[in-house]
Amino acid sequence: MATEDWGLDLMRRHRRLFRINADEPFRSAGYPLCGRGWRDLLDRLCARIEVALREGETFEFVQIKQKMGILRALWDAEASEDTEDKVGHAVNLAVARSICTCEVCGREGRLFNNRGWLETRCTDDAVGEILPPRYGAGFENVRRFRRWRGHADMYFATYDRETDTLTEVPPPSRKQDR
Ligand SMILES: [Zn+2]
Repeated sequence: MATEDWGLDLMRRHRRLFRINADEPFRSAGYPLCGRGWRDLLDRLCARIEVALREGETFEFVQIKQKMGILRALWDAEASEDTEDKVGHAVNLAVARSICTCEVCGREGRLFNNRGWLETRCTDDAVGEILPPRYGAGFENVRRFRRWRGHADMYFATYDRETDTLTEVPPPSRKQDR
């Protein structure tokens, strides 16, 4: 059996961002509890955070996992407000990318409902039914995000997978909101 562990490999490549448990790396805070298909988007996320961090600032992932088919990344930092804004934006980009990236293979995907389990999959890896976009047709990549300004400041943005960018949009109608 191969012993390759892409999660540990990711943490080692971005040492400044993780506190690795030497005895049981998979128990480290921030050890990615998600499929290998998201390795690339996590790599991009880590690279963006490393660029944002200045001398003397600290950062640590608290949790990285898949929840309801979407990336969840919790973090803690001792950094300037400006740095935290950049980190928050980098996390939003990664979350947005996870919603349209197959968690198994990394190709373009979308949310499927697999008997109640939400999973982001390409058509080859999908099981179950396509989940209709929350905000309706034409709003597939629109989602609500939080800005990091020390208080709740929500905004809506649409994600473009080609350019890996978020563009703020007006709030869609709430018909499909929970
Ligand atoms: Zn796939």
